[in-house]
Amino acid sequence: MRPKAFAETGGADLANPPPAGQPRSTLALEEMLARGASHVDGLVDARGRTYFDVFLTDPPEAVTDWPDFVDLPSRYWEASAMIASALSTRPEATGRLRGWLFSRFERDGLAYRPDSPISWHVAELFDQSRLMYALVSWAMHDPADAEVRRRLTGLADGLLLRSTRKEDYAYIDEVGLYYGGTLIRPMLQAGLVLDRPEYRDFATGLARGVMNHSDLIGRDGSFKGHVHGALGSISGALACAIISDDKHLLERARSGFDYARSISTSFGFVPEVAQRNDDMIACETCALMDYLDDALLLARHVDPGYWDVVEKAARNHLWESQTRDASWLAPSGDRDDEFVIRTRLHERLIGGFAGWSAPHCALAYQEDLFGTWTRSEKMKPLYLGKVRALQNCCAGAGIRAVHQVWSNIVTTSSSGEVSINLSLDRATPEIRVTSFLPFEGRVRISVARACVLRWRCPSSCAPELVQVSASTGKGSGARVEGPYLNFGAKRPGDTMELTFPLGERSEGITVGNAGFQQYRFGLEWRGDTVLSVKPDPSNASSGFTRVMQRRMPTSYADAGIGPIYKRSEWLRGLSVSPAVIPTAAPTIDWYQLREA
Ligand SMILES: [Zn+2]
Repeated sequence: MRPKAFAETGGADLANPPPAGQPRSTLALEEMLARGASHVDGLVDARGRTYFDVFLTDPPEAVTDWPDFVDLPSRYWEASAMIASALSTRPEATGRLRGWLFSRFERDGLAYRPDSPISWHVAELFDQSRLMYALVSWAMHDPADAEVRRRLTGLADGLLLRSTRKEDYAYIDEVGLYYGGTLIRPMLQAGLVLDRPEYRDFATGLARGVMNHSDLIGRDGSFKGHVHGALGSISGALACAIISDDKHLLERARSGFDYARSISTSFGFVPEVAQRNDDMIACETCALMDYLDDALLLARHVDPGYWDVVEKAARNHLWESQTRDASWLAPSGDRDDEFVIRTRLHERLIGGFAGWSAPHCALAYQEDLFGTWTRSEKMKPLYLGKVRALQNCCAGAGIRAVHQVWSNIVTTSSSGEVSINLSLDRATPEIRVTSFLPFEGRVRISVARACVLRWRCPSSCAPELVQVSASTGKGSGARVEGPYLNFGAKRPGDTMELTFPLGERSEGITVGNAGFQQYRFGLEWRGDTVLSVKPDPSNASSGFTRVMQRRMPTSYADAGIGPIYKRSEWLRGLSVSPAVIPTAAPTIDWYQLREA
């Protein structure tokens, strides 16, 4: 049964959506954040400790590791702020995460891993970048939290003290992407949130070091290695370029992002490693998070054409990378140990995100950790000789990625103009958007507060094909404004229903590292949504991995481990009800770099 058309209902009764129990509600990112909250509560233990590794053992094991001293607790704690920002309720584990994390601070303001069987006593720079992201998000979410501001100031000052200034650029130890480049974005935002110009200058110096005084990002934008590190550095450089109106820096950073697009798919499969020299390729959700951050910065401040990049990645691979069903793992065990969780593991993993997805499944290939992974011989059996199923850096990063997109679905300019940039559900104090995409080509907008309203027409549809019916009974009077239709001034109580054709198309794609095995997939699209991803059965079912120096099984030739895009029921005749979502104005906005 199709949902009733606008004319039949005489305007949407948004306060009373259809009863629960319908097969599917409209796509609301709040649903993903709520699931993320349940993951945070499920996999943070009583001490506030996170669990980086999940192994494909029988029973499956979540094992705590060296990233669980600073990196992961920072990401999970930041995710808790982002969940609270959207849903007005925070995971119960939030306080425990903070306690665990804050116990790592030392007198120089930085957070240290302890001297332990799995870690050396070190304040590693990538750890500091994750921590700074988290502190900045909390400083935005709860400006009255004095300890967060004090810790953030201490961390930024501590990093400044460790830095070297040379000509117009800066670095810590040496110019780097993963170590140093990933500090740029949170350092700049710390400068904005705390109103400390010296932090902004330091961030811009770090960005110039990466972009103008190193060959880490080539002249053509290309880079090698860890994509999370490169795209995270690029987002920092983009933000610095936008705020300082540095056109050279902007073009350098944009070329880096456009290179990343060239090795990714349009639906958001972003490789973990660029120019990897073997047969294995997988999408890391952390890399997708940075990819979305880069695209959002460009869309919001440079070129609205990038909203299309965001829309396609968000409604496809980001949505599909969240664990909704962990039945691809062996049954949960019945006993936990000091470093290992085995009980209720399926339930605990729901709401986390894929670490190495293929275009069509949750785990692209089977690979173990390399032999030098852990510090002591005694601890090696916990980590080595087991296939990795998930890396939970991606759980915190996935929740962050969802919030990044969520906070940009609807934006309000300083003059009060409201832009609907993405056709996903969202309720702000000004408007409520209900998008029936991809089930129907229909978007409903209800106005709660007087505003000038515009909506970005999906790239798959020409603006003249959009039919507008308004509750005021008047013609739409919409004006085409770049990719937007501007509807002019709207009053509280006004509703509008936009209908447009959703084109369907097939596409063949190939993923793989240049010079090594390639893997083909067939896609079915409806508008901007991928409805199915099918691997070519002639794809290789094993590939050479340099990490293990031998061939290992892949998921590319068949349905794979943990199939995703199980969207066949979306194809025809599905009854869809509006998702029930709270009204929220984002407390955390990483994109308000200057007056809109
Ligand atoms: Zn990750």
